[in-house]
Amino acid sequence: MKLQLRELALSVQSGQSEKKLHAAVCRSLRIRPESLHGIRILRRSIDARPVRKQPVYIYTLGLDLDDTGAKIAQQNAPRTTAVWDDIRYQPATTCPALAQRPVVIGAGPAGLWAGLLLAQAGSCPIILERGEMVTDRQKSVGRFWTHKGLNPESNVLFGEGGAGMFSDGKLTSRSKDRLRQQFVLDTLVDCGARQDAAYDAGAHLGSDRQPTILCALRSKIESLGGNFRFGRRVTDLRLESGQLTGLRIENAGLNTAEHETWIDTNHAVLAAGASARDLYQILHDRGVPLQAKEFAIGVRVEIVQREVNRAQWGQWADILEPASFRLVRKPQDNAASCYSFCMCPGGTVIACASTEGMLTTNGMSLSTRSGKYANAAFLVPVDAALWKKEFGDSPLGGIRLQEKIERAAFIAGGSDYRIAATTLNGFLNNLAELPEGRNPARIHAADLSAIFPEPVLNTLKKQLRPMLQTLRGVNPNSAAIYAAETRTSSPVRILRNNTGQSTGVRGLFPAGEGAGYAGGIVSSAIDGMLAAEALLQSV
Ligand SMILES: Cc1cc2nc3c(=O)[nH]c(=O)nc-3n(C[C@H](O)[C@H](O)[C@H](O)COP(=O)(O)OP(=O)(O)OC[C@H]3O[C@@H](n4cnc5c(N)ncnc54)[C@H](O)[C@@H]3O)c2cc1C
Repeated sequence: MKLQLRELALSVQSGQSEKKLHAAVCRSLRIRPESLHGIRILRRSIDARPVRKQPVYIYTLGLDLDDTGAKIAQQNAPRTTAVWDDIRYQPATTCPALAQRPVVIGAGPAGLWAGLLLAQAGSCPIILERGEMVTDRQKSVGRFWTHKGLNPESNVLFGEGGAGMFSDGKLTSRSKDRLRQQFVLDTLVDCGARQDAAYDAGAHLGSDRQPTILCALRSKIESLGGNFRFGRRVTDLRLESGQLTGLRIENAGLNTAEHETWIDTNHAVLAAGASARDLYQILHDRGVPLQAKEFAIGVRVEIVQREVNRAQWGQWADILEPASFRLVRKPQDNAASCYSFCMCPGGTVIACASTEGMLTTNGMSLSTRSGKYANAAFLVPVDAALWKKEFGDSPLGGIRLQEKIERAAFIAGGSDYRIAATTLNGFLNNLAELPEGRNPARIHAADLSAIFPEPVLNTLKKQLRPMLQTLRGVNPNSAAIYAAETRTSSPVRILRNNTGQSTGVRGLFPAGEGAGYAGGIVSSAIDGMLAAEALLQSV
């Protein structure tokens, strides 16, 4: 019989081994060891609250027990045990014959998981990606960070793995779709992620591990009949009576007629991410229904990781993993709300660009998260009311605002892709103060005030310090502030109906963050799966 056991606490210091877990379960349920045939860890989180004598892992476990063991377990722990269904997501393994191969646009999380499901169903998808495959992409990004030029087609935002390739690789998600979420995490583990990525509440991949995982995922999709084409940018759609019939592709970087070609297809998953501004424009020109959506703008804040550990873990700071935080402050004192996002423990603030003359910030960590500093975005939500006056009612108004801010950040950084930076004191007083001994390789002291619209600047100035002060022991005066954080979510939504298709184009399945239905690696991957399922269902 299968039972689920919740709230099993085990000391962090004692480590985790199968033997220890087995013994702890038997002890806790007062069952004989031979009654317990198997254990699957479903979830693990750390509890280091002061009420505990020592920090513990809290487990939710799936147990395989004999009938006697199960009966005793339920009697002894009625509150924490329940029947466990152990249902897993079952991808389709067949699909109706398609006249043409389906196409996936973009090899970020949404495109990769859509591609995986379509391949598993036997539909032999073609995956078009404007950027390079991950190993070449790493070289392009390395050249950008060492001031040897931006490749607008293959960079921190474009290329195999999508926007999250150079990231902390956090796997947290607010999705309630447990089955698909577990499928995504299990696939990552199959492809080389650490085992605990499948169940740890704070799991992350790390930028150093992601290339191996991405190569394995690509091989898996190819072995199932999928076909990747890198350096291929989709530049137009062919529509006949509202039905998609083809896609124009160009060899990215070679913008001439002889390098363009058309692919005939009636089915495409559009998973081009939140930075595909040129494609949004094309969709808009073609009359594909789009809608402006709320997004967020702010700064990257860098503080000392050791201080964050002390604030979050207290006396256990030296024995627990690098701590993270999530802060929110409500509107007050004529300031709007502000929240922290995409915190990277032991990470680095990075420069990102996909267009010449524009710069945005983000953060990444390696798998060890062992760097001296922590960083996080501090963001202010914005909506059409902020950009309407300047950019009108167009659904692309939010993109125009992003571009304006990124251009100003590029100029403030010295117009050579250095990140505009100052101290907290400098930020609050409109001063260019170079923070000392910091992580990012190329920063430039700047007054950041001219970069932001007034309401956003006002909110950040009023909210940053009190938010940092809630982390007891963190010295706000040692915070470095980098600008600007603009691409944490999509400013546009590509409208889709209840069959998952664009409301204006049959056969086009918008998915992922760029379509405005997801945010983050896991939720974008789940949305890609939903798009693939909808596509298969439509035939
Ligand atoms: C630096 C950074 C750090 C992040 N850290 C995290 C994190 O730790 N955890 C987390 O959950 N999320 C993180 N995110 C967010 C996360 O990466 C995104 O939510 C996620 O990647 C979105 O997935 P997607 O597939 O929808 O789009 P994307 O990942 O953006 O992928 C879209 C792909 O489409 C390609 N493309 C675009 N236009 C075209 C075209 N015309 N033709 C062909 N291909 C095209 C792009 O090159 C890109 O590879 C981070 C983002 C960034 C930028």
